[in-house]
Amino acid sequence: MNPIDLFADQLSPANTARIYQAMPPRLVATLRAQRFRKIVKYVGRHSEFYRKAFHDRGIDPAKVRVPADLGDFYTVPEDIIANPRAFICQPPNIVFESSGTSGKNKQIYYNQSELSQIAQIDAAGLQVMGMRSTDRVANAFDFSMWIPGMLVHNALMKLNCFCMAFGKVDPLEVYRRLKQYEFNVIMGEPTWLIRLTELAEEHGSVPLKLLIGGAEEMPREAIGWMNRVWQGAKVRMCYGSVELGGGLGYQPCEQPDIYHLDDTDFYPEVIEADTNGLGELVFTTLRRTVMPLLRYRTRDITRLIPEPCPCGLKGMRMTRLRGRRDELIVASGGNLYPLMFENILRHVEGLTHDWQVVFKLEGLREIMEIHVECLRTDEQQLRSEVQAQMRLQYPDLTKNLDIGIFDMRLITHPPGFLRHDRKLKRMVDHRYEYTDPAVNSAVPNSKEAAHA
Ligand SMILES: [Zn+2]
Repeated sequence: MNPIDLFADQLSPANTARIYQAMPPRLVATLRAQRFRKIVKYVGRHSEFYRKAFHDRGIDPAKVRVPADLGDFYTVPEDIIANPRAFICQPPNIVFESSGTSGKNKQIYYNQSELSQIAQIDAAGLQVMGMRSTDRVANAFDFSMWIPGMLVHNALMKLNCFCMAFGKVDPLEVYRRLKQYEFNVIMGEPTWLIRLTELAEEHGSVPLKLLIGGAEEMPREAIGWMNRVWQGAKVRMCYGSVELGGGLGYQPCEQPDIYHLDDTDFYPEVIEADTNGLGELVFTTLRRTVMPLLRYRTRDITRLIPEPCPCGLKGMRMTRLRGRRDELIVASGGNLYPLMFENILRHVEGLTHDWQVVFKLEGLREIMEIHVECLRTDEQQLRSEVQAQMRLQYPDLTKNLDIGIFDMRLITHPPGFLRHDRKLKRMVDHRYEYTDPAVNSAVPNSKEAAHA
């Protein structure tokens, strides 16, 4: 065991943050490489999935020194969906779920000591982003089957600050309590934070120190507006997921388009990159013991930035996400995929099989346009039938609509209107179209233009 691993878990979040900020890049690279070799051997011994994969591919874990030694071996979301238990190396204490495009959820398992370790790492990340034990925090990340609410809560406990664990409630509930509890930091999904900011703009705001978002990207235009409405509050984002277990990316500095990465607890790679360096983000968890993931394909498109940041932090960075490699869209406060709309619309009478869902922004408001083809003229009735199906099958989505974090529109067209080619793109995302000054190409695999 390397000396850092011996005492890493005993450090306070502030000291973890201090050490990370001070570590020379060569030491970080050495630590990452050591942890990588150790985890490869560990999963080779304890995980049925990796043991079999190594055997089938003739990989000797003892000889794997860097990710490239694994060749074209990756873990894909479908592997976890197919047999999550084959990944488990030690008895878990808790399971979380993450939605997949097939409509089946991925199960991700953790134990108590991992949750405590993740809390410490996330607390250190929040510390680097400017949070302190004196802060008063409203945590509006979702609890329930998904991970972010609880992880953020645990991190806030480690930071030793004052907090309220709201979960993803109606933003009005948090707004009403802002003065009562003197919150100065608010955490939640970007669409939720935007709705809260609309309330504050309309009914009056208080000075805040920080707004921290995660789980989806923040529209760039929202940042200046939020900063103004909340009387100087900084707006920062984290990048994490159920599979990562905590934050991989944090925004400690004034650069809204980049994340600083925790490249000591994760081994990030970008694979199948185009000439501009844009490719799919892949990560290896370096310290997980229950369900470690080796070279897990996130389907998120980004670019790694090896050069040091002007802010002085030395670690690896990546650009904000540029889209997805599959048809999953993180929008309207949830993970949405074509099968969901297929399931909703097939129970509505009089529609053709062709439909398309378009996500866009009007100002900062997120709009979900459901385009359908039919000969029906009773649009009001049609809309309520679609909403009834949505309520019945996907209550989470309806909840997000009810608390006002996005608008839904149903737009009807005559039969044959939507399809121009053999393949009709079902989900189209126009929300974050922007030009990265360093990169001008389109996102891989999402070049098809919208028809609607
Ligand atoms: Zn920076």
